[in-house]
Amino acid sequence: MNFSDVSAEQLDEIDPLRQLRQEFYLRDSIIYLDGNSLGVASKAAEKALLSCFEDWKHYGIDGWTQGERPWFFAAETIGKMLAPIVGAKPEEVIATGSISVNIHQGLASFFRPEAKRNKILADSLNFPTDIYAIKSQLKLHGLDEEHHLVQVASSDGYTLNEQDIIAAMDDDIAVMLLPSVLYCSGQLLDIECLTSEAHKRGIIVGWDLAHSVGSVPHKLHDWNVDFAVWCNYKYLNGGPGAVGGMFIHERHFGREPGLAGWFSSEKTKQFDMEHHLTAANNAGAYQIGTSNMFSLAPLYGALSLYEKTSMAAIRTKSSKQTDFLIYCIEKDLCQFGFKIVTPRELEKRGGHISIYHPEAARITKAMKTAGVIPDYRHPGIIRLAPIAFYTSYRDIENAVQRIQCIMKNRSFEKYQNARDIVA
Ligand SMILES: *Cc1c(COP(=O)(O)O)cnc(C)c1O
Repeated sequence: MNFSDVSAEQLDEIDPLRQLRQEFYLRDSIIYLDGNSLGVASKAAEKALLSCFEDWKHYGIDGWTQGERPWFFAAETIGKMLAPIVGAKPEEVIATGSISVNIHQGLASFFRPEAKRNKILADSLNFPTDIYAIKSQLKLHGLDEEHHLVQVASSDGYTLNEQDIIAAMDDDIAVMLLPSVLYCSGQLLDIECLTSEAHKRGIIVGWDLAHSVGSVPHKLHDWNVDFAVWCNYKYLNGGPGAVGGMFIHERHFGREPGLAGWFSSEKTKQFDMEHHLTAANNAGAYQIGTSNMFSLAPLYGALSLYEKTSMAAIRTKSSKQTDFLIYCIEKDLCQFGFKIVTPRELEKRGGHISIYHPEAARITKAMKTAGVIPDYRHPGIIRLAPIAFYTSYRDIENAVQRIQCIMKNRSFEKYQNARDIVA
């Protein structure tokens, strides 16, 4: 689309999702572009959380089986709501744990090293927790990380070449774990192609969907992904520390989970209190213990908003908004030394755009003072995420204008060029 003949106001007027913004709590004059780290609160999430608390007040212990949303089935019910968002069958998804815990669960279940196949394939740009979890799983098997963790290198420090990943799929790799969208640069990998290439070589495939879920459509079932994990607090707006999500392809149903607990049980057997586990014959087997209801309940509301639209419509808007953001950055910011590190091709990027600047840490602080909320990732990266649910084209244009102002006035020089404790 050629943005030079159309205004941000016009783009907002023809935006089919513009009404959804009213469902969210947005602060006046603050432009929130950090929904890829923590999505904003919605009225629906608030209502669902308060209703769970009311059930506790009213039902006490019986809240597990009574009330509008009995807690005993919450992880499965939310799993069903997540299924269309990730392209899975309802019984293939469970709401449980967190990304870090679910990676441990995925590897404990699927990494079964043998004499000739005993390595894990990952990349060199992934989020630290994914790598820490892989290393501790290797240690638990008595394998050293130096020989058994293979990390595909990046030539530019921001992106991966898919051919390099395929070339690393040797016959000693047992499991591959990759991020769908790289958290730093926003590069989107071809999940379907990489999964199929790995399967041809007998490798089990796990994906971390942290930065694609709720922003990019997935077809986890049709793509034959073995397992996937994600968090529900980024694009899915489930609230800080919301319970995470896990996908297990149905062809793996009936296996023992690597990390079992009483919530792994088939539901009708759970209270038989037997010491022999009869694991659920679906993704529910991958839960461990009692559901964290107050971190799960907001999802009833937050995910109901996805029922008002579709992943295709969200991706269409998100793509147009990131195109518009790139257009604004090139027009107004590149002359101040910003460099876009996100791939330009639409099919190679997720929902956020990352820009590099050597002074990025303090530019981020000046942006927050100016009412633009991005996030900063060390070293030198500012991530900007327009969210289809609640970001307008005017927000994008205003945010870029405010950043331009900061660069012109050099107001960022008031701050130290160092990251904060949470950045
Ligand atoms: C956000 C994120 C995480 C966070 O993991 P938690 O266990 O939810 O704290 C992990 N991996 C990636 C790639 C992320 O982007």
